[in-house]
Amino acid sequence: MIQYQNYWLANKLTSSTSGEIPTEVDVLVIGGGINGVSTAYHLAKRGVSVLLLEQEFIGWGASGRNGGMVLTGLKEDVSALTHKYGLETAQAFFSASKESIDLVESIVELERIDCGFYRSGHIEAASKQSHFDHMVAVAEVMEKDFSHKVTILPKKELANELNSEAYFGGMLDTASGAVNPFLYVNGLADAAKTAGAFILEGIKVEEIKRADGKFYVKTAGRTLIAEKIVHATSAYTSKKFPELERKMAKIGSYILCTEVLSEKMVQSLIPKLRMVFDTKNFLSYYRITPDNRLLFGGRAAFGKDPERSVAESVEVLRRGLQFVFPQLSTTRIDYAWGGTLDVTQSKVPAFTEIGGSVFTAGFAGHGVAMASLIGKHIGNFMISNERSIFHTKSLPNMPLYFLRDIYLPYVGYYYQIQDLKN
Ligand SMILES: Cc1cc2nc3c(=O)[nH]c(=O)nc-3n(C[C@H](O)[C@H](O)[C@H](O)COP(=O)(O)OP(=O)(O)OC[C@H]3O[C@@H](n4cnc5c(N)ncnc54)[C@H](O)[C@@H]3O)c2cc1C
Repeated sequence: MIQYQNYWLANKLTSSTSGEIPTEVDVLVIGGGINGVSTAYHLAKRGVSVLLLEQEFIGWGASGRNGGMVLTGLKEDVSALTHKYGLETAQAFFSASKESIDLVESIVELERIDCGFYRSGHIEAASKQSHFDHMVAVAEVMEKDFSHKVTILPKKELANELNSEAYFGGMLDTASGAVNPFLYVNGLADAAKTAGAFILEGIKVEEIKRADGKFYVKTAGRTLIAEKIVHATSAYTSKKFPELERKMAKIGSYILCTEVLSEKMVQSLIPKLRMVFDTKNFLSYYRITPDNRLLFGGRAAFGKDPERSVAESVEVLRRGLQFVFPQLSTTRIDYAWGGTLDVTQSKVPAFTEIGGSVFTAGFAGHGVAMASLIGKHIGNFMISNERSIFHTKSLPNMPLYFLRDIYLPYVGYYYQIQDLKN
């Protein structure tokens, strides 16, 4: 029987700081996902007194539920970024994405976080011939203008990497990695505590007031005082903070995990254990887990309550899985779960100041590595006003944000129709 539960959740690690918690700190971070925890970690490492509040437990949000793909690039490819921002800025974004993977790798090594990180590489698999043709052009641009070498795999060569007839070819980028995201964010939280950060789980921030240049943060049991605030709540930002919540579109994404596969089957499906995703708008993404299951994700939900759509997603995802790997049509599904990610209008992650506090949004499907890096950038910004390419003066509201729940499903249908065209 399918367990409607996050497969990664098996071992919960971090728990709240024990002992006395200060009532006044330099920085109070709201949200115990990768972004909040990375911010707390980097601030504490530099001697800042920091308290992180998480309403559930560390990694409860998208950070503990995702595919664990530690990817190069951003939501949009280098051509689209260059078109929008010019070459220099696009180069800076892309190079930051590579730096973000190096950062995850170095923290995992330094803090000895046992989270199964390895440089798996990723494959982007072309769902249409036109997507493959575009990929070939993008690969050339990456090498020429971004000093980044990827390998184009025509259909025949892709077969050495991926035992699926579903694609027209692919692109291999060996710089990307894999991780157990729940163990990563919990290990990072432990390292933050060791560095001196205070972490409290099960504490929801209800209200924030500002007086005498300080923030008064109200939770169910107490009021805490901070010089500065970081909202690292991403897609789980509550409507109680409308000035933040209206900056994003929330999108549900869903994952299945099969039963444990034989080593022979794993070797026949994805022998080099790459992270894989395709080129559709409603893309599928998949990988092998450390215990040899196939983790298969996809089926974005626009504008619905994503947390309530998990059961509905199972059949859609099962069909997707069988389309890619018909050889798994009788394989048992053991786990199914979902989570919510957020996208801003620019489709690039960013942090900004709103009402005197720092707010981050827009990691989309690239938060594992990017939220780690932007946490570091927020720390540097707070301590020494250091410039970051992700720091923006303002984040625009989503267009007609008050109608998002009505129009977002239609945006979803539009993308679905685009996927059906050649
Ligand atoms: C199903 C799925 C698959 C994905 N796959 C990948 C992938 O393979 N690779 C990749 O790079 N990215 C992936 N992503 C995206 C990635 O997971 C996110 O971009 C990233 O985790 C965002 O991290 P975060 O710390 O900003 O937010 P989150 O991890 O969502 O954390 C926000 C936290 O804030 C807390 N919070 C909210 N309000 C309050 C409050 N008032 N008081 C206290 N706490 C509060 C929430 O409880 C939550 O834990 C995926 C996302 C989903 C949903």
